[in-house]
Amino acid sequence: NRKLVMIPGPTPVARSTQNEMGRETTAFGDPLFVRDFKGLIEDLKVMMNTDGEVFVVAGTGTMAMEMAVANVTKRGDNILLVSHGFFGDRFIDLCQRKGLNVDVLASEWGKAVPVEEIDRKLSEKSYAAVTVTHVDTATGVCAPVAEIGEMMRKHPETIYIVDGVCASAAEPEDMAGMGIDVLLTGSQKAFGVSPGLAIVWAGKKALERRKQLGTIPEFYIDFEKWLPIMENPAKYFATPAVNLIWALKDAVRIINEEGLKERQDRHRKVAKATQAAMEALGFRILAEEGYRAVTLSNLIYPEGVDDLEFRNTLSEEGVFVAGGLGAYAGRMFRLGHMGNIDMHDSVSAIAAIERTLYRLGKHSELGKGVGVFMKEMMG
Ligand code: PMP
Repeated sequence: NRKLVMIPGPTPVARSTQNEMGRETTAFGDPLFVRDFKGLIEDLKVMMNTDGEVFVVAGTGTMAMEMAVANVTKRGDNILLVSHGFFGDRFIDLCQRKGLNVDVLASEWGKAVPVEEIDRKLSEKSYAAVTVTHVDTATGVCAPVAEIGEMMRKHPETIYIVDGVCASAAEPEDMAGMGIDVLLTGSQKAFGVSPGLAIVWAGKKALERRKQLGTIPEFYIDFEKWLPIMENPAKYFATPAVNLIWALKDAVRIINEEGLKERQDRHRKVAKATQAAMEALGFRILAEEGYRAVTLSNLIYPEGVDDLEFRNTLSEEGVFVAGGLGAYAGRMFRLGHMGNIDMHDSVSAIAAIERTLYRLGKHSELGKGVGVFMKEMMG
């Protein structure tokens, strides 16, 4: 019985990408690997339209968050954290440990912080950096990163950091176009690679800030340590994750074959249809309209549906989903629909959700959700 993994990461990994991880590991100085790594770095820079550098380093999204902050701030600096949930909040402890003065603009879960509020905060005080989580995986809220970037042009002293862990390669991101200075993600979400790689893009302004800081306390995640390697991967600082880098290169090939724009459109279409189908089945979407992510849906249960019973039955029906976080644990589940998850998987997942509700005695009109999904897709 094949199980569909429909969680918001790790996401399904294509066979060709898996094959890259199964290759015989070579020396990181192997000219063929160096060529592959170099090509990957170039492709990633083009993908996010940066005038700076990209760092591909073994680690997870959390490490990427730390890398972003560590390279553009120093102890005693002010930092503004815009939080739309659990992952936005993750920056709080991370930044406090670094001795930063932390101000937080947090929304009620499901809502987005108004851009004017961020603008007002940035006008009151001088901030070294601001962090925005593009899609907060705990709430499914997608931040208006382009609009924030436009507003940020009035505050050139502030470095604009975007956490794209649950967004990059699915939601539109254009560093130069949107004024993003640092963008970060992990390999296991919309890129469709196994967990283990952190990807951090830094524009010119961020790299200049790093230079001004002199020596920073962090060692492994220091931009300056990695810059020579990203410019020439034949050099050594710390051992690159050879097979994961090959896997990411394959994932980027898949993305470019589909086309980044086409991929974003596909995500938007599937997300909209999925969300309409789930609403038709009685679920409520946590994120407010206009701020809904395309990468996952955060679905509040209809009255009388028990979380564990639902997810256990759904797993018997062949689909893994994720539970709710924070105050929504037990009241909500999270359905991932990003990366290699496509229309076919979504139809199957919605059908399995219908069978689950049917078995729990909460749904009688089998096919209703699938019907709505297909009408939306064809409409
Ligand atoms: N930021 C966001 C938006 C995330 O969704 C996650 C992971 N779910 C992280 C950061 C942390 O990434 P990781 O688990 O790879 O450390």
